Amino acid sequence: MTAARTRYHARWVLPIATPPIEDGTVVVEEGRIVWLGPRAHAPSGGADDELGAAVLMPGLVNAHTHLELTVMRGFLEELAFFDWVRTLTRARHFVLDDAKLLDSARLGVVEGLRAGITTFADTADSAAAFDALREYGARGIAYREVFGPDPAQAESSLAGLREKVAAMRARETPLVRVGVSPHAPYSVSDALFAAVAAWAAAERLPVAVHIAESDDESRLVERAQGPFADFLRGRGIDVEMRARSPIDLLDRCGVLAARPLLIHAVRADAPDIASIARHHCGVAHCPASNAKLAHGIAPLVEMLEAGIAVGLGSDSMASNNRMDIVGEGRLAMLQQRSRTQRTDAVPASLVLDLATRGGARALALDATVGVLAEGYQADLAAFALDDAQAPIHDVAAAMVHARGTPALRTVVAGRILVRNGAVLQQDATLSERVQQHADALGRWRRADPEL
Ligand SMILES: [Zn+2]
Repeated sequence: MTAARTRYHARWVLPIATPPIEDGTVVVEEGRIVWLGPRAHAPSGGADDELGAAVLMPGLVNAHTHLELTVMRGFLEELAFFDWVRTLTRARHFVLDDAKLLDSARLGVVEGLRAGITTFADTADSAAAFDALREYGARGIAYREVFGPDPAQAESSLAGLREKVAAMRARETPLVRVGVSPHAPYSVSDALFAAVAAWAAAERLPVAVHIAESDDESRLVERAQGPFADFLRGRGIDVEMRARSPIDLLDRCGVLAARPLLIHAVRADAPDIASIARHHCGVAHCPASNAKLAHGIAPLVEMLEAGIAVGLGSDSMASNNRMDIVGEGRLAMLQQRSRTQRTDAVPASLVLDLATRGGARALALDATVGVLAEGYQADLAAFALDDAQAPIHDVAAAMVHARGTPALRTVVAGRILVRNGAVLQQDATLSERVQQHADALGRWRRADPEL
């Protein structure tokens, strides 16, 4: 058995569920953690991986990505939200075929793995991210999106979704699972929300939904006004007031009962937060994307106080433009302290918890990943501690406030995917190909008569 055993040794081991271990060791066999503790007491035998002056922790969980949109990093800067959504949708439709989307998703996976991310929760209207996650050996849930703002379309939209999901499910692996995502209130009718939620619950499919993200969305749902209302009316779709709030809309349509991952939840008031908690929904908190698109700051502290499982998401590279989950947590900390004027809001140890166990809980994967503990999957991330973090008084603070550095190791189910900042699965021309796809986007935009 010793041949299949690896002992990872690091200056600091952060199990998350239990206190930090100085000079610690994590022992992995056949893809699982079989022991962790002080190096002096580690069981002998197997291969030794000496990480040195480093932090070894659970692999990071990115609770919200659109990996196929990595090619749009820097493409839609400074647009108002409605124009951002509209241009993104049209550019994707007219320029990005399946091959381009797959390259774009591959680049996103590579970026995430290098940043220590082992689990990705991705929403997309293609199988590109699903395929890219499988290719690289990462873990994830690929939520297949469905659209249809006209209630008359609900049946055919659901039929199309069922077909796409069936094809993906046939190719599911233990690491990469399939879910569904009725996209958002401005792109999905109440009838379609209800139909997808009922079907997903019957099929035991995980659900994710963009919700309570923007003022434009709230105006549409609560007052039947704003740019989304105008746009839908322009397409001949009746627009009426739908609910007290976007979260209330999901409750009325039976979506909350399917325990979805709620992406954003920026505009959640006290009754909304109580409703989210009562339905045991997880939340993907995306502070950088919400700030960049000028949506505001989500009530993270209140959601955590209500016992809601919250993970951190980068969102797409069209709205961030980086994928750094610990950095995302640092931004969340700074925003919440500014918002609440409380220095004890979101301590550094909680940032690391949200980046790992919190994300796993929000995705209902917390029985297998998110912490370092015996029996858990060996999803690991190791980061070097260098002079920028020195001296170390508090290892969690050192990790959270350091600049994002490439991972020394990223390990999924015991398999090393990143070594010393480099993804082991090489694709020498990937960046070049994605730049060509980006150039095609640029040419389309310059020629587009609507812009
Ligand atoms: Zn999103």
